[in-house]
Amino acid sequence: MDEPIRQDHRLAEADALERLRALQPGGEVSQRIAEHALSLAREVRSTRPAALSAESFLRHYGLSTPEGVALMCVAEALLRIPDPETADALLREKLSAGEWGKGSSQDAEDSWAASAADWALMLTGTLARWREADAEPIAQLKRLAARLGEPVVRTAVRQAMRILASQFVIGETIEEAVTRSRAFEAYRFSYDMLGEAARTAEDAARYFDAYSRAIRGTPAGDGVSVKLSALHPRFEEAKRSRVFDELAPRVAQLVRLAEQCAVGITIDAEESERLELTLDLFEELSRGHALGLAVQAYQKRALAVCDWLVGLRRRLSVRLVKGAYWDGEIKRAQQFGMPDYPVFTRKPATDLSYVACAGRLLSAPATLYPAFATHNCRTVATIFELAGDRPFEFQKLFGMGDTLYEVLSRTRAFACRIYAPVGSFTDLLPYLVRRLLENGANTSFVHQIADPAVPLEALVADPLEALPEPYSPDPRIPLPRNLYPDRMNSLGVDLARRDVLDRLEEKIRSDRGRANLGAVESTTPQELDFSIARAAAAFDSWTRVPASERAAALERTADAMERRMQELVSLIVREGSRTYGDAVSEVREAADFCRYYGAQGRANFEESVLLPGPAGERNQLSLHGRGVFACIAPWNFPLAIFTGQVAAALAAGNTVIAKPAEQTPRIGLRAVEILHQAGIPPDVLCCAVGDGETIGAPLVADPRIAGVAFTGSDETARRINAALAARPGPIAALIAETGGVNAMVVDASALPEQVVDDVVVSAFQSAGQRCSAQRILFVDEGCAERVMRLLSGALAELKVGDPAEPDTDVGPIIDAPARAALLRHVEKLRAGARLIGEARAPASGNYLAPVAFEMPIEALPRIEVFGPVLHVCTYRRDNLGRVLQWIRETGYGLTLGVHSRIQSFVDAVVAEARVGNVYVNRSMIGAVVGVQPFGGEGLSGTGPKAGGPHYLFRFATERTLTVNTAAVGGVTELLTRPLI
Ligand code: NAD
Repeated sequence: MDEPIRQDHRLAEADALERLRALQPGGEVSQRIAEHALSLAREVRSTRPAALSAESFLRHYGLSTPEGVALMCVAEALLRIPDPETADALLREKLSAGEWGKGSSQDAEDSWAASAADWALMLTGTLARWREADAEPIAQLKRLAARLGEPVVRTAVRQAMRILASQFVIGETIEEAVTRSRAFEAYRFSYDMLGEAARTAEDAARYFDAYSRAIRGTPAGDGVSVKLSALHPRFEEAKRSRVFDELAPRVAQLVRLAEQCAVGITIDAEESERLELTLDLFEELSRGHALGLAVQAYQKRALAVCDWLVGLRRRLSVRLVKGAYWDGEIKRAQQFGMPDYPVFTRKPATDLSYVACAGRLLSAPATLYPAFATHNCRTVATIFELAGDRPFEFQKLFGMGDTLYEVLSRTRAFACRIYAPVGSFTDLLPYLVRRLLENGANTSFVHQIADPAVPLEALVADPLEALPEPYSPDPRIPLPRNLYPDRMNSLGVDLARRDVLDRLEEKIRSDRGRANLGAVESTTPQELDFSIARAAAAFDSWTRVPASERAAALERTADAMERRMQELVSLIVREGSRTYGDAVSEVREAADFCRYYGAQGRANFEESVLLPGPAGERNQLSLHGRGVFACIAPWNFPLAIFTGQVAAALAAGNTVIAKPAEQTPRIGLRAVEILHQAGIPPDVLCCAVGDGETIGAPLVADPRIAGVAFTGSDETARRINAALAARPGPIAALIAETGGVNAMVVDASALPEQVVDDVVVSAFQSAGQRCSAQRILFVDEGCAERVMRLLSGALAELKVGDPAEPDTDVGPIIDAPARAALLRHVEKLRAGARLIGEARAPASGNYLAPVAFEMPIEALPRIEVFGPVLHVCTYRRDNLGRVLQWIRETGYGLTLGVHSRIQSFVDAVVAEARVGNVYVNRSMIGAVVGVQPFGGEGLSGTGPKAGGPHYLFRFATERTLTVNTAAVGGVTELLTRPLI
């Protein structure tokens, strides 16, 4: 794979776009395209959709209607829900939204059955109009629904879902698919095996078999589309060597089989983070084989990919698509703080890219055979113009674009292939939802052509005309850097890029070679005493420095940390034993803390606030530092928490003695050095190095300390609290953030694959050594078996090892005593609980293999087990109350996860929770500054939340100033008020 592809990824969107402008057809050609497109569009709009048109369905239930959204929710979840109660709860909730049929009352809770029946009838009834040939299921449904009652309605809706599914999916098996495809004589086919990406080796093996069967069952001349992420559980850049060792031979085997069967194979496009890996693999596999590849035009580097394909000079087929994961690409780039998006933010820009790519692919007819996947009249007209008499084909999705291609076939001869999904109905759900999202959105062509309010001229207009000149990205999608209105977002590092991983690895290795991380000299009691005295003396002048100046120093700190990302990541990996991903997050969070608290300080500490009161008096409230703050950090967020505490204390006008954990002193020292370089005076901030007993304890016991910001164990927090209480003099402020016994509650409507992805991250990332980490999984009996099976398979895929290696998922336990305690706990569990699965850990080193056990609720631990050990407990739906009570009774309240598709279930869990941070349908770690302010309640901490809007106030003292403005003779503002 060549350099321009990497470079183009980083291009600013406007630059990427400018290059495409030059590649658009102009003048006369453009005129002909417009005319052809318009005549096609006219005919398509005036033609009644043919039978079996999923398109028509999408027109009725697009995403802009409540019915469409409810339908999407039901479609996504219903068929996989094993128990009737959960299925009914889902239907009850989703079907009460929207206007399904006329004449039914949908207000009363108990009328849901009627409304569901209505809904099912309407759904299938509407479909029946398009599908008169197949009336039997509809009649059956009507008979069922006539005898109402919950089980009947449930069956009716399931049946409706199946009918709906058959509009989008050609068959449940390849045999069924091939049989059904015979009805479409004019078309060739490319079959796609539906399903999620593989999470486990077992999944991957199952997909391999499915693909092999599909290839064998596919008629010669047709094709099969292969999703690489389905054939390997870790199809990721970081796992490149595994991918080449394990996945490449598997795909090669499929390619050879396909050749024997004269069936074409196309490698499907996936998320942009997998593109480079996909291309390298494709390069290898296409040597000597006529392979196909899908290219997504929405990526800024699509054109570079086409150039590369042309340059390969191999016989290849290329499917050009616009791209189906646009929303996900935008979200990921924002979450990871990428400098820019990998995709265009405006849809017409993608259209331009599509045209430019099409031109390139058509330019090498001797080697490339392009396939243009589209349902858009303008795109079709454009391709005809660009292609002339060069060979190509169109592709359309099964059940969609029928009218367009039918209309087209009346006037021209062309080749078209149907991309036809094959799979069981439960596997089709994510596919269906994706299609609903893609084509039900009101920006989609399919949606608009059916809407008479959209003028056809506008619909087929040249995309060039829809773009601003000069080009600028969509202003509603700010760059990830500009996500927040009042501060810059921290800059991330793209760990899905090989060159980035390689550079980091090299840096860490060379740092390791140069510097041995021996003991750091501890601060002596005399030095500590001297530092406190200096900080106390510096306080008066520091607290008078305007808050905006203090903020500016913190912002410079954030900038410097980002500039020094590599060096800091290397240090965190080496001293804190964190993986690359964790280390990058550390640096980002530290930078975010600096900017966030800086902004908060500016907003609240710069000026005093005037308070309302009686005439003749001025009342002002102002905030000031309290004095010298002791900031005591744990080892497990050696940079982020350490910097966060310090930045908050400084922003609020305090001077600081900062004590990093004894396991990670260098990271603390480096952070303080950066803060000093950014302009924080050395007497205002001093780093005290040493352990809890010799440095921490005397520090908090010192009466010159006005406040303590502590993060660490519950036990140490108590000790500090007692020490502070025992001191003479003013009572100090204490902010203590401690541990948790964090649980996730999963009901039977949740998607097991998603649950397991999130559990693996929540329970095992950072070797479970996060305060927020998941310790307990409560899973509904209905889906427990599937979840545990996936969990066991996913555990087997984790690489435990040296965090200096970029493919390591789980690093070591921080020290030998911590590991010994965990091992004792695991031994006890081995004796008394059921092992679900475990990873493998290296024989030597301070490692503990991530592990999961199942046990009854009474056996669950009520104390924090600070490591990669997950305790799983199944529950019955009607016992949810007991589960929630158990969680409350632990007394901890830090994080809680919920996975469900049923809002009332989520609401019930949230209402009962006494927990600082609740996460729904996602992982429960990785709180972001200012977005998910972090901190617990009960045994988990005092609050206020770190990275939240109330944090700085706890570091401040408040003063009011009341001035009797009438003292000099009268209430002037009353006497001089204007007349009205
Ligand atoms: P720890 O309590 O052992 O140490 C934390 C810090 O306190 C260290 O710097 C230590 O030197 C210092 N310390 C120890 N004894 C002291 C004393 N008597 N006086 C003053 N300081 C003393 O915790 P740890 O092992 O470093 O961190 C892991 C714990 O931290 C876990 O319980 C985890 O849940 C918790 N944690 C909580 C949060 C949160 O935000 N709630 C975040 C990270 C970690």
